[in-house]
Amino acid sequence: MRAEVVSVGTELLLGSTIDTNAATLGQLLAECGIDCSFRQTVGDNLERATQAIRQALDRSDCVITIGGLGPTEDDLTRNAIAASCDVELVLQPEMLATLKQIFDRRNLKWVDSNQRQAMLPVGGQFIDNPFGTAAGIRMDVDGKIILALPGPPREFKPMLANYVKPLLAKLSGGSIIHSKVLRVCGMGESRVEDAIKDLLHTSNPSIAPYAKTWEVHLRLTARAKNVAEAEELIRPLESGVRQILGAHVYGTDETTLEMAVGERLAALNLTVSAAESCTAGLLMSRLAAVPGASRYLVGGVVTYTEQMKIQELGVPEQLIEAHSPVSEQVAEQMAIGARKRYGTYYALAITGVAGPGPDDRENPEGLVYVALAGPHQVEVEQHHLGKGRDSIRMRASQAALTLLWRRLNHTEL
Ligand code: AMP
Ligand code: MG
Repeated sequence: MRAEVVSVGTELLLGSTIDTNAATLGQLLAECGIDCSFRQTVGDNLERATQAIRQALDRSDCVITIGGLGPTEDDLTRNAIAASCDVELVLQPEMLATLKQIFDRRNLKWVDSNQRQAMLPVGGQFIDNPFGTAAGIRMDVDGKIILALPGPPREFKPMLANYVKPLLAKLSGGSIIHSKVLRVCGMGESRVEDAIKDLLHTSNPSIAPYAKTWEVHLRLTARAKNVAEAEELIRPLESGVRQILGAHVYGTDETTLEMAVGERLAALNLTVSAAESCTAGLLMSRLAAVPGASRYLVGGVVTYTEQMKIQELGVPEQLIEAHSPVSEQVAEQMAIGARKRYGTYYALAITGVAGPGPDDRENPEGLVYVALAGPHQVEVEQHHLGKGRDSIRMRASQAALTLLWRRLNHTEL
């Protein structure tokens, strides 16, 4: 069983509306174990929409269109379905009566364009839409199925849950596709791929790497009768990956790095504080986003100017003069200062150039130092985090969390 999604709407091509419906549908298809090799987006144009549906019918068993079922002139999906199946579009009197009733009940003035929503390709049937006036459409042609679903997500999602999901579950013959994500920090995508290259070419389960913000996600996917069986298939592959990547795998699925770090800190009964310059609280904010963070997160300070680094953290003025505020030495002193100030077991510090462009000491955009002070030593790392203010700040907080994660994994539990 192979499905293809055709999203209809010029706003989707222009990028003014993000195709969240197709993403939701993609997840459902996977859940139902239905392969989806192609997805198309086409504008509100009859000829091109017809062409898109024809092409989809040629290579897939089930074509699901999204949008273009409303009452206006640019809502052409039903016309395109009729055209691609070489059938007429006819007025369905029952639907017309239902629509008129709805308008009466809501005290809305009837406009003739609404009649479009009562038009049905010959051989098709309507799919009930309790949340709007645009019914869905189902067409069975030559052993293939076309489903046309409305665009507004509040109408689309219920139709997906109430009609499409049960139908697809039946059609798929009871198999599912299930994934588990292993989240990897402290290694780039190419290094991860190189390390696990011997595991990459399996098919069930399969494994695929995705680069994220300064971390890599490995998606392990299996097709099976049910989730438990899929997990059984995934298990040996997962342990193979874990054996190679060790503590670089910090969590699975929805676990964030701040969650993993927090859990470890709590388990070890240790505390942390932070001193931030270019990230100005982003690191603290991420740590504090985890419920129960007060078990280990004590406090932190934003020292954006040189003066604040001196005043709040006791960084020696001469050190800043000699090395600049973005330097290994200053990061180190910031971490030591925060650790003293908050009396924590660990303290993290971040100082860097978020840009755009170099700072007034000619430090380049993206140069960031992260430091971790503990009871026995201070570790400092230099990073070049590329360009783009938001991205550099996010990556800097990630680098700091990664440094702490690594340290925590060398500590005995
Ligand atoms: P339509 O069904 O084409 O009349 O679309 C009605 C509204 O639904 C649009 O204005 C969009 O806001 C929304 N919409 C349409 N298609 C999608 C989609 N694929 N994903 C998310 N929203 C959509
Ligand atoms: Mg539209």
